[in-house]
Amino acid sequence: MTDIKSMTITELSDYIQTIGEPAFRAKQLYQWMHAKCVSSLDDMTNIPKSLKAKLRSTDETATDETTDVTANTVDITHLAPVEVKQSADGTRKYLFELADGNLIESVLMRYKYGNTVCVSSQVGCRMGCRFCASTLGGLTRNLTPAEILDQIYRITNDINERISHIVVMGMGEPLDNYDNVIRFLNLIISEEGYNLSRRNITVSTCGLTERIRDLADEQLGITLAISLHAPNDELRRTIMPIAEKYSIAEIAESAAYFFEKTGRRITFEYALSRGVNDTDECAAELARLCRDLGAHVNLIPVNPVTERGYEPSGADRVSAFKNKLEKQGINVTIRRELGQDIDGACGQLRNRHGR
Ligand code: SAH
Repeated sequence: MTDIKSMTITELSDYIQTIGEPAFRAKQLYQWMHAKCVSSLDDMTNIPKSLKAKLRSTDETATDETTDVTANTVDITHLAPVEVKQSADGTRKYLFELADGNLIESVLMRYKYGNTVCVSSQVGCRMGCRFCASTLGGLTRNLTPAEILDQIYRITNDINERISHIVVMGMGEPLDNYDNVIRFLNLIISEEGYNLSRRNITVSTCGLTERIRDLADEQLGITLAISLHAPNDELRRTIMPIAEKYSIAEIAESAAYFFEKTGRRITFEYALSRGVNDTDECAAELARLCRDLGAHVNLIPVNPVTERGYEPSGADRVSAFKNKLEKQGINVTIRRELGQDIDGACGQLRNRHGR
C-alpha cells in the first residue's frame, strides 16, 4: 500500500505518472487531501472513475466499482475518532484510532485569536519524563506524516472551521521522529495544501540538541519550545532522564544556534511542581539562563497525573515565580490550564483506555 497522503506534491506527481496518469491529477488529489481535508476517493468529484479504481484502497467505505484494481492500491490515511470530550471552556479533546488499532490524542483549544490544535507525534514516548503520562508505557511507534496531518484535518471537519495554530506538544517527542515531523511540517505549510502559516507553528522538544541544530538548518520559520523544567542539571536529572544525556549548557548552545540561524527566539517550558522546582533560587537561576539567550518562559503548574505524584505549585507560588523572572527582565507567560475537566494533561485520556 502506498501512503499518498504523506507525499509532497512533487512525489505524488511522479507517482501518478508511474501509474500512467497525467501529472495534473496529482495536483487535484493533493488539493482534495490537504486543502479540502477529504479522505475518501468517493468524495473527490473531479477524479475520474477509472483513476479511482486504479487508486482504490482497502477502504471498506468505498462504494465505487473496483473493476481495474492494480497492485497500486493506495492508502489515504484517515483517523477514526473513538471519543471526543468537550470541556466547559470550549476545549475539545480527541481520542483517535489509527489503522493498526493504536490510540493517540489531540486537543483543540479555542482562543480569541483562533483555533489551536495540539498534535501527537508518536504513539507513546521513550523519553521517560517523570511527571508525564504519555511516557508511562514507553514508545509504541512513530506516527507517519499523514497520521500527524490527519489529526488537524479531522478536527477541521469536525468543527467546520480552519485551524490557525499548531503546537506539536501532544504525545511523543517530535525530534525523536524527526524525518516524519519535518515532512509533516512541510506538508501543512504547503500553499497547495492546508497552507498553515509557519509563524503559527510551535514544535516542543525535551532538548535533543543535535536535532535542534538540524531543525534550525531546515529554515522552516517555526517556533521552538524547549521543555526545561529545571534550571540546573542536578535537579533536571531527577525529573527528566534525558538530562543524563544532554546538559543544560549543551541545550543552551543549541538554542543559541537556533536563534542565530533563524532569528526566532526560543521558549522554555517550565512546569511548576510544589517544592521541586518552584523556589526563588530556581527562578533566579532560570532568569540567568534566559537572559543570555533572550528566551521567553512559559510557565504551567504541573498537571497532576495519578501515577506520578508531582503536585502543582499553588497560585501564589506561580505568580511569585513569574514576578521574580519578570524583575530580571524575562518575558513570561502562564499557560492557561484549559480542559482541566476532561483529562487535560498529555496522555491521560489514552491511558484510561489502556491501549
Ligand atoms: N516531548 C515534547 C513534546 C510533548 S510534551 C517535549 O518534551 O517538549 C509537551 C509539553 O507538556 C512539554 O513541555 C512537557 O514537558 C509538558 N508536560 C508533560 N506532562 C505534563 C504535566 N503532567 N504537567 C504539565 N506539563 C506537562
